[in-house]
Amino acid sequence: MDLTQTRLPRNWRTGVTVAITIAVAMWVLWSVSWMEVHADPAVVNWPLFSIIAVLLIASERSPRARIEFGPIGSVTPLWMFAYALILLGSPSVAVGVALVGSTMHALADGASVTSVLTCVSATAISLSVAGLVLFSLGVHGAITMKESVPWTWALAIVIGGVAILLLNSMTTALAMSVRRNLSFMTLLKRGFGIRVSAEGALLSLAPIWVIGIDFSLVIVPLLGITTILVFRSTRQAFERAHEMHHDSLTGLMNRQSFLEHLHDALDEPRAASHPTLFLMDLNGFKEINDRLGHRIGDTLLVAFADRLEASLPARSVAARLGGDEFAVLTIGIASSDDVNEAAAALHEALTIPLTVDGFPVTVGVSIGVASAPEHGQSNTDLIRAADVAMFKAKRCGTDIERYDNCVKAPQRGRLSLLSDLSDALTNHELHIHFQPQLNISDGSVDTVEALIRWTHPEHGSIPPDEFIGLAEQTDLIGPLTEMVLRVATRGLLTAGTSTVKLAVNISPRSLMDQYFASQVFAILSETGFPPNRLELEVTERGFVTNAERSSYTISQLRAAGIRIAIDDFGAGHSSYEALRRLQVDRVKIDRDFVTGILEQPRDRLIVASLIRLSHDLGLDVVAEGVETTAVWDLLAELNCDVAQGFGIAAPMAFPELRGWLTQWNEVLVEELIA
Ligand code: C2E
Ligand code: CA
Ligand code: CA
Repeated sequence: MDLTQTRLPRNWRTGVTVAITIAVAMWVLWSVSWMEVHADPAVVNWPLFSIIAVLLIASERSPRARIEFGPIGSVTPLWMFAYALILLGSPSVAVGVALVGSTMHALADGASVTSVLTCVSATAISLSVAGLVLFSLGVHGAITMKESVPWTWALAIVIGGVAILLLNSMTTALAMSVRRNLSFMTLLKRGFGIRVSAEGALLSLAPIWVIGIDFSLVIVPLLGITTILVFRSTRQAFERAHEMHHDSLTGLMNRQSFLEHLHDALDEPRAASHPTLFLMDLNGFKEINDRLGHRIGDTLLVAFADRLEASLPARSVAARLGGDEFAVLTIGIASSDDVNEAAAALHEALTIPLTVDGFPVTVGVSIGVASAPEHGQSNTDLIRAADVAMFKAKRCGTDIERYDNCVKAPQRGRLSLLSDLSDALTNHELHIHFQPQLNISDGSVDTVEALIRWTHPEHGSIPPDEFIGLAEQTDLIGPLTEMVLRVATRGLLTAGTSTVKLAVNISPRSLMDQYFASQVFAILSETGFPPNRLELEVTERGFVTNAERSSYTISQLRAAGIRIAIDDFGAGHSSYEALRRLQVDRVKIDRDFVTGILEQPRDRLIVASLIRLSHDLGLDVVAEGVETTAVWDLLAELNCDVAQGFGIAAPMAFPELRGWLTQWNEVLVEELIA
């Protein structure tokens, strides 16, 4: 549906543009021919004319004789030779020769009929107008046929050259803006600068060719060498400059130049600048790349980049930061509503199917949004903020997230928090609390869950929900998880129990790390904790993004006897997908369902059927968030296996846990005796 809707106007616009270009081309070509026929007959040195014409055609046939500028078009020596032909005295024949050259060039490129027509018409327009300019400024006949050339001719030749540059820039920008649906003015501005130096250098050689070749044919090889050298050095300079600033695949700005832009925008003293960063990452690109091959993957990236450029809000720049990660920087969106609107519009435009090799392909995009100065005032801070938001959008499948929404306590300055966290690891500010989980059937302790705690020297205690997400963004999550595993296993070994299991929360990201399982094994053998008493809790959110790698890690861990639990079951979008695709041992029903089972009949039904489903799959079930005896009793009725919650015990430090476990055992023994 969407495809046909977007294609029709595009085709229509292309058709009209091509028709107008052809009409203009015919009109100027006719004008220049008419002028030439009706002016006093001029002497043209036809032998020299033929030599340059042959050189023109030969150079157009060589694929090496061109400088490509991505979306801005390309430059070839055609213009230099064609302008030389005009200066030899017959603009209309010169245009004719150039048309043959550019037709051959376009055909050799395998261009479509529309492209060939546009390209040839554009050539006709630029050169005919240059011919008309020269005529009207009094340059008539070959410049070599005069004994002395008047000064005004030099000026006229420069103006004719400038006309070619301007018209070339305009026609290319027009063709590209129609074909790639980009802004005409942006393309024109970008293209003109490049053309002035690349094409300008070549055009300035045109009169030298004419005079040199007229002086003696012996000069031709010298002129050829000069031209090749000018052409080559121009090409190299541009390729280098272009490569330095652009991504070679998509032609978008690269990371380096985007960072420079961002830096400039953040430096902007005016309050009105309000830089906003949209960081985006394609969903499922890796699968497309793996399944359909890199060529299709590349084509998709190019199509996506084109779409991105075409959908940019005003005053924005876009870049490919690497892989399937793109970024947009927008200036001047002040209100938070406008930022939301811009993000939604971008997302909508980017998720309309793209045409890749003739097939419609829809890509999902996760966008993370961060604005300066609220979310960061330096490149690093703002990018990290947008990255945190983007990762959240990806994890939660919410498409767009703003950094504000990821952070419950923005006043704390999240980014300094991140660097504080890395210090916290070495300064022993992180410690572990334990929360028991009881078997509902007999009240015995089944598991204790290790929950990380951070006592910040300034901000006091910071809940894990606020910093785990940040740690997941960086490599800090690795050492953090290792620390929890090491300290918790050591602790539990000295807790005076040999049956209670230990549950440790791990980040979904860890499952995608190929070394994760061996790191866990190393810690277990270092502390001597039996693998079959360890359970790793992972939320289902990250499981499914790369189910294959996650399953592999899970199979390694389970082969060693370690148990896996799906945490917060039901809270995300893909709980069932996780159940279907991954081998796990336990399901922990999210406390949002559990707390309401007394009052909400639906919650009760859901919990009851989750318990049945898990049992049917051979898994045991933990209910989280058990705060009252009434809930415990109902869970017992529903056949739930294990309960955890403030009603049993809140998370506590290790010495307390030891006391609690001893006391609890005594209570149980008393109950048994009684
Ligand atoms: P979680 O795995 O769902 O952990 C249970 C959370 O629920 C804990 O919050 C616990 O204090 C709280 N809770 C326990 N019983 C009750 C109850 O009856 N009612 C209510 N309202 N809440 C209860 P906490 O400690 O703030 O942890 C929050 C989350 O942070 C954890 O959720 C877990 O996802 C993450 N987390 C904690 N420690 C670690 C860790 O070492 N590594 C990783 N990767 N994540 C961790
Ligand atoms: Ca947990
Ligand atoms: Ca949980």
